[in-house]
Amino acid sequence: MVQEQPRPSRSRDLFDRACKTIPSGVNSPVRYFEPHPVFITRSQGAYIWDVDGNRLTDLCCGYGALLLGHRRQEIISAVSEQLLRGTLYCSPTSEETDLAELITGNFPSMDKVRLVNTGSEATMTAIRLARGFTKRRKIIKFEGGYHGAHDSVLVSAGSGQAHHGISTSEGGLEEVSQNTLVARYNDPSGLEETIRQDGDVAGVIIEPVMANMGLILPQDGFLQQVRRITQKNDIPLIFDEVVTGFRVSPGGAQQHYGVKPDITTLAKALGGGFAIAAVGGRREIMDNLTPGGRVYQASTFAGNPVAVSAAISSVRTINRIKDQIYPHLELQCAGLSRAVADLASDMGIDAQINHLSSMMQIFFTSEPVTDYDSAKRSDAARFGRLFAELLKNGVFVAPSQFEVVFLSSAHSGEDLDHVLDAYRLALGAIRD
Ligand code: PMP
Repeated sequence: MVQEQPRPSRSRDLFDRACKTIPSGVNSPVRYFEPHPVFITRSQGAYIWDVDGNRLTDLCCGYGALLLGHRRQEIISAVSEQLLRGTLYCSPTSEETDLAELITGNFPSMDKVRLVNTGSEATMTAIRLARGFTKRRKIIKFEGGYHGAHDSVLVSAGSGQAHHGISTSEGGLEEVSQNTLVARYNDPSGLEETIRQDGDVAGVIIEPVMANMGLILPQDGFLQQVRRITQKNDIPLIFDEVVTGFRVSPGGAQQHYGVKPDITTLAKALGGGFAIAAVGGRREIMDNLTPGGRVYQASTFAGNPVAVSAAISSVRTINRIKDQIYPHLELQCAGLSRAVADLASDMGIDAQINHLSSMMQIFFTSEPVTDYDSAKRSDAARFGRLFAELLKNGVFVAPSQFEVVFLSSAHSGEDLDHVLDAYRLALGAIRD
């Protein structure tokens, strides 16, 4: 039986205090929700604890980063050991090459890889590389795809931008965003037409599985067609695998769907809870980076030893247990998705559930969700009520319709029973 947990009260006080010195009290907009975010003090495995001592089953999982759960032992040990040897050298270490070899081993489309700190930095570098390599200007992204918080991709973007209803960010220059063309996901002829109308396309960037518009899967053959169209037009294809890398399979969505991009970005699950990201791809593209080439990329913290130790440990652990975790997570997630869909249907609630591997999302709509338009037709306000009810029942999911529910290898069958009970109560509460 799920026990109703009292709404946190210290969080309210901490939020009021935070708002005095932190804009809107949060350091990233998706963390905000009404009436106020819950403040967290610690985490372990499948759980986070708030400042009032409530234990929440975490299905946000660091927005996908925590594939192995919170504080996975191997990662904590590797980082603890590194902390005793230093935190920042700003000169190369052999471990950076160890990690580059691990990444290129899992992702054969990458001959070479640069380490950076965040997904945004990785996609910014990927786009600059595509422009530098082709000597063209425009990039094409897909409606509802989120590629980070920089100007050229904050156009028709998902995640927090969609959640807060902002089509382009104030402060961003039109001169920049007008070089970003937008195509429709799951619509290959639309992509072909966009390319045909503009001869200056430097790159196509895509989340192979959309995970910032809720979860939207590529229809059969879509990614293969995107590859064929970009190849035919000699345009570099960038797979933004910040979410899907290591999550959908050890070699990401590109392994799962058998499509080879020219450039790939990784973050989230790569670092197992630490800030690290990567941009990699074909040798002749990557060799354009400074200092050997003329496409600039730099960062004080790039390849820092602490994050690198976490990522090495994370990738080695994933590779060691991949035969157990991926089939298991797939089974758990499919089971949960089916059970939640049955609950909704039994209660007469119109709902669609999209799922893949260890990711799922519910949309309150009677139509299948296959692109930005269909995702936006779902009842986001109802999702907000579902989120609040799940939280009341001890389950924390990302607080936006335009995010995804993530499972981790730390979630047990018992945890998922609890999650399902929470969905049952929450759906019951929002039925009308
Ligand atoms: N690309 C994708 C697909 C993402 O989901 C995100 C973050 N949600 C980013 C890029 C940006 O990553 P970061 O927040 O680490 O800058």
